[in-house]
Amino acid sequence: MTDEDLNTTVYYDDDADRSYIDDKTVAVLGYGSQGHAQSQNLADSGVDVIVGLREDSSSRAAAEADGLRVETPADAAAEADIVSMLVPDTVQPAVFEQIKDGLEAGDTLQFSHGFNIHYNQIRPPEDVDVTMVAPKSPGHLVRRNYEAGQGTPGLVAVYQNETGDAREEALAWAHAIGCTRAGVIETTFREETETDLFGEQAVLCGGMTALVREGYETLVDAGYSPEMAYFECLNELKLIVDLMYEGGLSNMWDSVSDTAEYGGLTRGDRIIDEHARERMEEVLEEVQDGTFAREWIAENQAGRPSYTQLKHAEETHEVEQVGEPLRDLFAWGEEEEAAEAAADD
Ligand code: NAD
Ligand code: MG
Ligand code: MG
Ligand code: MG
Ligand code: MG
Repeated sequence: MTDEDLNTTVYYDDDADRSYIDDKTVAVLGYGSQGHAQSQNLADSGVDVIVGLREDSSSRAAAEADGLRVETPADAAAEADIVSMLVPDTVQPAVFEQIKDGLEAGDTLQFSHGFNIHYNQIRPPEDVDVTMVAPKSPGHLVRRNYEAGQGTPGLVAVYQNETGDAREEALAWAHAIGCTRAGVIETTFREETETDLFGEQAVLCGGMTALVREGYETLVDAGYSPEMAYFECLNELKLIVDLMYEGGLSNMWDSVSDTAEYGGLTRGDRIIDEHARERMEEVLEEVQDGTFAREWIAENQAGRPSYTQLKHAEETHEVEQVGEPLRDLFAWGEEEEAAEAAADD
């Protein structure tokens, strides 16, 4: 397949011009999953990086031990030409208040997720560029792939292009963190935010856990052993997902038995039926019209009462009690693999 088969623009190393970032100073605010990975990759690519962290941040020691310069978010942003917001999304509006005076005309405010811009929780000054460079992977993989000479696929988007160079600069950043080695897809803040929220709610996190819980409970309520229910409805998911990841749905159907294939093809749509589809459309509408964003912002302002309660219910569900000792039982295989890998080094 070539890029002509794709409905979107994909950028690679050759499309990026590092001169757009090489003589600039950049600030990475936060040293968590994305912050530690992006700042170290930038530094290893020769970019002048300052990590912005609170005076009392427990991450300061880690960033300094990794050889990076650390300042407060306000000082880092004041000195930098590009400021990347890599603190948690719920914290970003407060951090923006601390750093906004350090944004000069022509500077760039950059994100790895569009929530706060798309839902107007951060209103950037009009004379700065606003961009997104979003690796499609957790930070530890962004770092590990870079160190191995490989890349992590990513997204770029431009929300404000005051200088006219916003896209070129974002691509140079994507190059410096290794994303253009794998390919970077052009998107918008709206598309990234809405598809990310819908995907995690309806399919990846929300839909999947609900499917696992309901399947588990159906078997246990019918008298089957919790251990068998755990294996069939949770543990084996990884095998199926790995097959889909490697070669799509057909690769998975080809690898399971014909019985599993016929049973799945005839029964799957009875489980996730037209009602489930209607619920998905509702959930998407709540993402699109801002209902979800308002709810989540209010939940945070109230100290997360529902979140805490739901998290507790999930943690104490029977499938969790059953799963823990079973995972320990089967962990020997992984420990052996890890020991072998270590011996190979
Ligand atoms: P994180 O939760 O891993 O880390 C955030 C860091 O911010 C902390 O380690 C700390 O250094 C700092 N921090 C935490 N609370 C703070 C506070 N109150 N004030 C100041 N600093 C504070 O965050 P993350 O998952 O790396 O997310 C950063 C951004 O990257 C978000 O916009 C997120 O949506 C986006 N993103 C994350 C991933 C991922 O897989 N984690 C993937 C793509 C995009
Ligand atoms: Mg500045
Ligand atoms: Mg998300
Ligand atoms: Mg995501
Ligand atoms: Mg089976």
